Amino acid sequence: MTKVWGGLDPARLHASYFVDDQGDLPSDDEARQCWLAQPGFNPDHLIQGGRDDNFWEMAETGPCGPCTEIHYDFGPEFCDMQDVPGHVCAVNGDCARIVEIWNNVFIQYNRTSPTDFQPLPKRHVDTGMGFERIVSIIQGVNGNYETDLLKPLLDETQRLSGQSIAEREADFTSYRVIADHVRAATFF
Ligand SMILES: [Zn+2]
Repeated sequence: MTKVWGGLDPARLHASYFVDDQGDLPSDDEARQCWLAQPGFNPDHLIQGGRDDNFWEMAETGPCGPCTEIHYDFGPEFCDMQDVPGHVCAVNGDCARIVEIWNNVFIQYNRTSPTDFQPLPKRHVDTGMGFERIVSIIQGVNGNYETDLLKPLLDETQRLSGQSIAEREADFTSYRVIADHVRAATFF
């Protein structure tokens, strides 16, 4: 992320790791140590998260485990809640400034009851990155639909419909739905 993809600024990266707010499971100190060892990573940008934000499970029983997330700070100008009294930009906050771009889930437990977690005999990492989000960072644009993955589809939709820029903005949700579906159709 910091060397190949256009050299993302390490100072803009935030990470989170699991600390159990219910006290049943050990904290993910291995992930914590990995982040602190990354060159240029700001230790103040490492935050803890509990079951809601940093623990993944597909159901009430079954494989599950802690996760570590990477978030990117687009900068204060991307905050869309600046006029909300008391708003503070934060990881897992509500505004558009700091956005999750990657999640690594460490599938290491088999959950058999609300409180029983058995270690899995074989463990793995389920890793997922937001493709449109990383492209929007690299291209320096505000949002997925401004990237060259999707914007040309919105432009063509506007051309075919003969709408004005104002009409396009008024119908923006429809434009996004059309762009998403057109792209999905090309996967075949
Ligand atoms: Zn904000």
